[in-house]
Amino acid sequence: MSFNSILGQPVLVQSLKNAIYNSMISNAYIFNGAKGCGKKTAAKIFAAGINCINDKEKPCGFCASCRKAAINANPDIIYIRPIGNNIKIEQIRELIGITSIKPYENLYRVVILENGDKMNHAAQDAFLKTLEEPEGNNVFIIITENYNSLHQTIISRCQAFNFKGVSKDIMRDYLIKNFNHSPEKIEFAMEKSNGIIGRAIEILDNEEIISDDIYYNLISELLQNKRVIALSIYDDAIKTKEEALKFLDYLIHWFRNILLFKSVGEDKLLLVREKEKKLVKEYSIRIKEKNVYMIIDMIKQGRRFMDFNISTKNTMDSIFLKILEVFND
Ligand SMILES: [Zn+2]
Repeated sequence: MSFNSILGQPVLVQSLKNAIYNSMISNAYIFNGAKGCGKKTAAKIFAAGINCINDKEKPCGFCASCRKAAINANPDIIYIRPIGNNIKIEQIRELIGITSIKPYENLYRVVILENGDKMNHAAQDAFLKTLEEPEGNNVFIIITENYNSLHQTIISRCQAFNFKGVSKDIMRDYLIKNFNHSPEKIEFAMEKSNGIIGRAIEILDNEEIISDDIYYNLISELLQNKRVIALSIYDDAIKTKEEALKFLDYLIHWFRNILLFKSVGEDKLLLVREKEKKLVKEYSIRIKEKNVYMIIDMIKQGRRFMDFNISTKNTMDSIFLKILEVFND
């Protein structure tokens, strides 16, 4: 547990370290950013650092406070999580009771509100009171993916940090060091994750990669005018409406890359894997821009049809026919 494990947020990390080393801890913080970008890890490290008694490196990982923090057993580091869909007013009332007394063992009590935007209106109002009348040495860290659902009055009392996606180099380095996957899979996870490390790990952990290979086969057969083969791959692989919708998303993504290649003329910016790039380049010359838009519209319409429970296979078949038509025009 160290600030070094927070990747790709140098400015933010430096501010948090400065706060600790200069003893300038604010009463409340907001850690805002997409799911999987390290907000919770950062909150845990910051909370440990605040109460670490080592002078040199905070958190040191060795002092009693750090050791307890590492296993989430520090009585002065409290996590509040939604129960069901919300953080309820009862939870905030209980919290107010706890924060009205001194920390048990440490200089500060750190309260980490996970999914802080899930505080309902009443809970936010109650929480605001604790911010308005800070008692004792309490530090609040509100973790949120959606800053805007917090009341303005809460936001204005917090120091806010925005977590960003990390660069490709940082992510590649991290994934190669920590995961045992082929370079191709790692590249793929990077492309799909928009710099969000948690998302990349999720992709590496699940079967999405496999289904994407099926998608690739499907579209490449289709483009080679093998509609029957494409339909049989579809039948084998795509069983549910959810899977069909996912495939339609992939198709939209694929055609957007065609548009991108048509407008910039180079493949560096394409958000697809190497072998898909080849397809995109090869077929983008054979289709007019207005037809790409037409297909994307048609796929979107197909999505709507599926929402109305119209047969996914029929919808898909008419999309396939339209794609074949424009490429073989
Ligand atoms: Zn320590």
